[in-house]
Amino acid sequence: MAEMKKKVVVVGGGIAGSAIAKGLEDHADVTLIDPKNYLDIPYARMRAIVEPAMAERSIILHSDYLKKAKILESTVESATDSEVTTASGERLPYDFLVVCTGTVFSSPPEKTTKAERLEEFNGLNRKLQEAESVLIIGGGPVGVELAGEIVTDFPAKKVTIISGADRLIEFLGPKASKKTEKWLTKKGVTVILKDKIDVNDSLAPPTFETKKHVELKADAHFVATGKKVATKWLEASEVLKEHVTVDGRLKMESTGTCQVEGLKNVFAAGDITDFKEIKQGFLAGKHAAVVVENIKKLSASPDAKLAAYKPLATPMGIVSLGRVLAVAQMPFGTILGRLAGLLKSKDLFVGKTRESLGLKAK
Ligand SMILES: Cc1cc2nc3c(=O)[nH]c(=O)nc-3n(C[C@H](O)[C@H](O)[C@H](O)COP(=O)(O)OP(=O)(O)OC[C@H]3O[C@@H](n4cnc5c(N)ncnc54)[C@H](O)[C@@H]3O)c2cc1C
Repeated sequence: MAEMKKKVVVVGGGIAGSAIAKGLEDHADVTLIDPKNYLDIPYARMRAIVEPAMAERSIILHSDYLKKAKILESTVESATDSEVTTASGERLPYDFLVVCTGTVFSSPPEKTTKAERLEEFNGLNRKLQEAESVLIIGGGPVGVELAGEIVTDFPAKKVTIISGADRLIEFLGPKASKKTEKWLTKKGVTVILKDKIDVNDSLAPPTFETKKHVELKADAHFVATGKKVATKWLEASEVLKEHVTVDGRLKMESTGTCQVEGLKNVFAAGDITDFKEIKQGFLAGKHAAVVVENIKKLSASPDAKLAAYKPLATPMGIVSLGRVLAVAQMPFGTILGRLAGLLKSKDLFVGKTRESLGLKAK
């Protein structure tokens, strides 16, 4: 009699979860659980606002790349050491659980279908087209990339970016921040630092008041403030709650096997892990590869020697500034220009991500 395939439940269909479900679907009985019916490549979101056609390529139905894995559109609410429970009431037993719930935007809630998400981008594009002046709230990579896209495609629009921090893109070093601020300012962007705007439901154009009581005028605003780690369900989970760190991530085995500390059959990958490194999609992809390898190994032999992930010691990152340029912090230094742009800005890793899932780049 053929041996039963191991049951693998992957929670979260983002960068890490999609790669893991794809990597294991030929080897195990995989179920991917995600509230959305699509993978939304985050790197392309800002381009998709100025060019909605980009959304068509970067929003990928899970059913387009998963041929064998089951897809369950729901949110996981809790897990025990043998099953997970979803908001829609299903209880799914597992041999291996993989947590890839990354980060979520709390408001507005994420659209659950690809059609709704595409319509959302069309709406954002219309809002941008109609505005002469734009306020971007948040000076992290999302706010800066959006400003870069707008000044590249719509140079006549007046753009203001406001951030409570004392420099832009704080996740990189001060050199990257300085070069970026200089570039944006040269393109006519007004950069306001060390002040902020309260993001709430009553926020609306044309007048915005900052914490320091400065009045700003803009025809349209975009919120680019941070996402939150998707922690709530971990704290409600019998098997995981003891392993949640103070900042809401999962405590990982120090050996780098991508297992959650002390739990042999529970893995995690991506932004939810407490690996000491910048939270980045290209690292989530590396975690995913280790998870795939180790689940295959443990399925073959419970005593197998497992692969180990080594967290990135030197912070690296690339922030695109429109279609050609970017600022990149690399081990050899920080550069802003076409060379950095070659690495990311033309296609924003969309073709590469699609190909890694067995789809055509275009
Ligand atoms: C605008 C932007 C630009 C970026 N640019 C880059 C870049 O250029 N390079 C780079 O390396 N990184 C970049 N990043 C970071 C990168 O996108 C993240 O590090 C990466 O997406 C993390 O992958 P993940 O799988 O951990 O989480 P995510 O991709 O955030 O996916 C999490 C998934 O889990 C789902 N989920 C959450 N809670 C539950 C639940 N309870 N049950 C079921 N499903 C759940 C969510 O719906 C989502 O599908 C960027 C991020 C953003 C937002």
